[in-house]
Amino acid sequence: MKRTGWWVARLVDRRDETATSATLVLEVPDWPGHLPGQHVDLRLTAEDGYQAARSYSVSAPADGNRVEVTVQRVPDGEVSPYLLEGLSVGDQIEVRGPVGGYFVWRATDPAPVLLVGGGSGVAPLMAMIRARREADSRVPFRLIYSVRSERDVYFADELRRRARDDRGLDVAYVYTREVPEGLSAQAHRVAVADVNTHGWPAQLEPVNFVCGPTGFVEAVSDILVALGHEPRRIKTERFGPTG
Ligand SMILES: Cc1cc2nc3c(=O)[nH]c(=O)nc-3n(C[C@H](O)[C@H](O)[C@H](O)COP(=O)(O)OP(=O)(O)OC[C@H]3O[C@@H](n4cnc5c(N)ncnc54)[C@H](O)[C@@H]3O)c2cc1C
Repeated sequence: MKRTGWWVARLVDRRDETATSATLVLEVPDWPGHLPGQHVDLRLTAEDGYQAARSYSVSAPADGNRVEVTVQRVPDGEVSPYLLEGLSVGDQIEVRGPVGGYFVWRATDPAPVLLVGGGSGVAPLMAMIRARREADSRVPFRLIYSVRSERDVYFADELRRRARDDRGLDVAYVYTREVPEGLSAQAHRVAVADVNTHGWPAQLEPVNFVCGPTGFVEAVSDILVALGHEPRRIKTERFGPTG
């Protein structure tokens, strides 16, 4: 049965990811489940009845009635600061979804996968990485994760562990502002050389998932097209106007 309405959920847990982001764990009664890559809409209602809704990708695979999202604080934003600072464990919030059927990875697809995430755009890609492990899939996955600095890496410990233990998963970081000590690379935005080195050749017909701020997604998609990837094998999700 397709669910179209708003459902009252409860925040049951939260985990800080970085100084400006956190994962929120919601319990949604009768949740029908979701696929990695899908998103939910969250809606807040003020005492005077004013409502605001925003979309957030699920960052973990389906797990009963639990829905996890990972939210970046947008300075002066209307909804994200409230989700991170105004909502406490036990509070209610309305949820709609799951939404989306295109930007989705299915464990039955044997094609190699390149994930390219910018900032909070790693959230749905993390759901795919976790779902791959849960499905015991051997599909080769590569993640290129663009972040300002090491301090801005979401899921840092888990990614380190998975890059070591999940066979067939490679993780590469591109630092846009501050490169960790000991690395020789210069700070830069994802460029052709990064995608060439850490992505798949177009001849292997991988599926490429690109997610992040609008400008990031457009730049990376252009690089993939220039490297010969068919546009239909480049799946994109745009989070918002700026970095
Ligand atoms: C399909 C989809 C999935 C998304 N998934 C996630 C997710 O998993 N995690 C997450 O943190 N966000 C996600 N977003 C972005 C999210 O929906 C909100 O846009 C974001 O939280 C900002 O909302 P706000 O109310 O705080 O800011 P607003 O009050 O809407 O905007 C405040 C200011 O910030 C600018 N702005 C709006 N959105 C962004 C943005 N994303 N980045 C930078 N500047 C912005 C606006 O232009 C405005 O100037 C997703 C968006 C879409 C469309």
